[in-house]
Amino acid sequence: MTPSIPNKLPNVGTTIFTVMSALATQHNAINLGQGFPDFPMNPKLTSLVTEAMQANQNQYVHMCGLPLLRERLAEKVNESYQCNVHPDTDITITPGGTYAIYTAFTTILSPGDEVIVFEPAYDSYIPNIELNGGIAIRIPLQHPSYDIPWDLVRAKITPKTKAIIINSPHNPTGSVLTQNDINELTDIVDHSNIIIISDEVYEHLIFDDKAHLSILKYPALSARSFVCFSFGKVYHCTGWKMGYCIAPPTLMAAFRKVHQFNVFTCNSPMQHGIAAFLTEKNQYLELGKFLQQKRDYFQQLMQATPFVPLPSYGSYFQLYSYENISQQSELEFATALTEKAGVATIPVSAFYKTPTNNQVLRFCFAKKEETLEAAVERLRRSF
Ligand code: GLN
Repeated sequence: MTPSIPNKLPNVGTTIFTVMSALATQHNAINLGQGFPDFPMNPKLTSLVTEAMQANQNQYVHMCGLPLLRERLAEKVNESYQCNVHPDTDITITPGGTYAIYTAFTTILSPGDEVIVFEPAYDSYIPNIELNGGIAIRIPLQHPSYDIPWDLVRAKITPKTKAIIINSPHNPTGSVLTQNDINELTDIVDHSNIIIISDEVYEHLIFDDKAHLSILKYPALSARSFVCFSFGKVYHCTGWKMGYCIAPPTLMAAFRKVHQFNVFTCNSPMQHGIAAFLTEKNQYLELGKFLQQKRDYFQQLMQATPFVPLPSYGSYFQLYSYENISQQSELEFATALTEKAGVATIPVSAFYKTPTNNQVLRFCFAKKEETLEAAVERLRRSF
């Protein structure tokens, strides 16, 4: 007989990304749900990785990540965000951004600690907090602008507040932090012991000439922050599951204690390949423009449908309202859209712990033009 085990995540099923991608496959739908590009990555980077493998760079690299990769990353962020990150003490290479966030929570949380989370929240945050014995204090972002209600944040701070997790550009809404948000956050955490976990995996996917306000730009904030990044989003290789975390030395030393007994170290050839490719700055500096064109093209195509766009200033995603089409819940409507129209999306309600219905779906526009055209053609015919 298989012994019974405690249910550590009683309220959680299978992640919406897996659910919607499986439904898309089952119904042969075009998948604008899970966020991944369908266009090829740069062949130069795949060649660099292949060369590394062929040159026998196939054994463990340093526990914290290949030193050359950390040096190049320090140069990149110090230049991009005018900071002073040190490659030896402040950076750890991780198997993806999600792992970096999980490890940061595991590093800091003790049972009963509270973490402020803004909803809609990326679907791993709250389970990560709860697995570590923490309590998620959920604060709703106000639909449809999804601005942070800072007065409410102030009201929710208690002596047990251990951390605030922020995410800009924001998944799923595409909102971005403003200078006012940074000022409010700085004011709130000043003279406290609150840690910030900043999910910046879409740092370069930012549009309309907006600047990414990384936490690394603000010493008063970065001194108390774990900042999490993703190579998958920068180099169109989400399946590589490669990312990194930046934090000041004492926080990073604690993070590494957890990391060393979890994954220990990440894939070597990919670290060699990425380290070599990082010198090509245009690869990331041109990314916002490239994705903005896709956002705009998709939005233009969608004008032929009754879906109404909400603003997206960054990320792979844009929310569209279907209030002109249906009164169904977001999950029901997204399921029907996949099954009947043949287009998969993500119901935004999946990013809330308790059910909400703002009648909005998340569309991923990081796709080839022909994919976007085919998807909108299906929607146009259906409505
Ligand atoms: N980050 C991706 C998204 O938001 C999904 C990653 C995953 O499937 N867990 O769509």
